[in-house]
Amino acid sequence: MRMRYDRRLDASFKTTANPTGKSFDGSTGDGINMATKIGADTDGMNYIQLIPFVGGRCIDYVGGDIFVDPQGKRFVNEGGRRDAIADAVLALPGRTMWVITDDQSLKGASVEGKLKKGIVFKADTVEEMAQKMGVDPKVLQATLDRYNEFAAKKEDPDFGKTTFTQLINKPPYFFGKETQDVHFSCGGLRITPNAEVVDVNGKVIPGLYAAGETTGGIHGTNRAGGNALIGNFVFGRIAGQQAANLAK
Ligand SMILES: Cc1cc2nc3c(=O)[nH]c(=O)nc-3n(C[C@H](O)[C@H](O)[C@H](O)COP(=O)(O)OP(=O)(O)OC[C@H]3O[C@@H](n4cnc5c(N)ncnc54)[C@H](O)[C@@H]3O)c2cc1C
Repeated sequence: MRMRYDRRLDASFKTTANPTGKSFDGSTGDGINMATKIGADTDGMNYIQLIPFVGGRCIDYVGGDIFVDPQGKRFVNEGGRRDAIADAVLALPGRTMWVITDDQSLKGASVEGKLKKGIVFKADTVEEMAQKMGVDPKVLQATLDRYNEFAAKKEDPDFGKTTFTQLINKPPYFFGKETQDVHFSCGGLRITPNAEVVDVNGKVIPGLYAAGETTGGIHGTNRAGGNALIGNFVFGRIAGQQAANLAK
């Protein structure tokens, strides 16, 4: 179903609800399929959001790490929109990047586990890190030197990053390979502000209400992190009220 709307997202992409393939993800589009069978319209189905989730990223905020390609060069604004970062990573060979931070950043809760599992690595020098990554140490050093110049001035003429919390220059370095996992469907059933599902001719389908990730158009092309649950509660409440009123 995903590939009908974004040809790149084949079965090799895991979802963030089931990143290892060993748990359960109930988001299989049933609600959308059931409603479209009776004429419901959809909105924004091709806007499928991806995020770096289970790989080598060590921090949960922007400003303390950099993303580099398999040659050790930066390729994107690490603080950019989720869709822009995903497009850039999916265009890289192997569709994977390296993520690098250092001793100064505030690590996420999963880092200890990632170090034990060999998802995140440590290195005392840039040269050691380059060797472990399989990239040219001179290229990686040049990447870090250039980035640190930008971070000191809080200006990034290469990719337009605007959020800097530190330089990346205090060993040990922490790094790991990171990919993109399927996180959120911005698209889904087209609804009115009253959570009524609309058909392909723009008419309300009587008695059919929808809320949450099965709906589309609420978040546009790129959901801002944290906003899904708000939309779900707001439209879920409206849908419930509407359905109760109809039943009365
Ligand atoms: C790892 C992760 C982190 C997230 N973090 C955040 C966050 O910090 N902030 C935020 O706002 N959002 C976050 N999200 C997104 C948010 O969790 C989802 O958008 C939200 O849970 C979707 O809620 P929902 O009720 O629409 O759908 P779901 O929670 O998917 O509920 C749908 C339910 O329907 C059931 N179902 C499916 N098919 C059928 C069927 N045929 N018959 C009967 N039942 C069926 C499913 O089993 C499921 O229980 C995160 C998502 C993930 C995966």
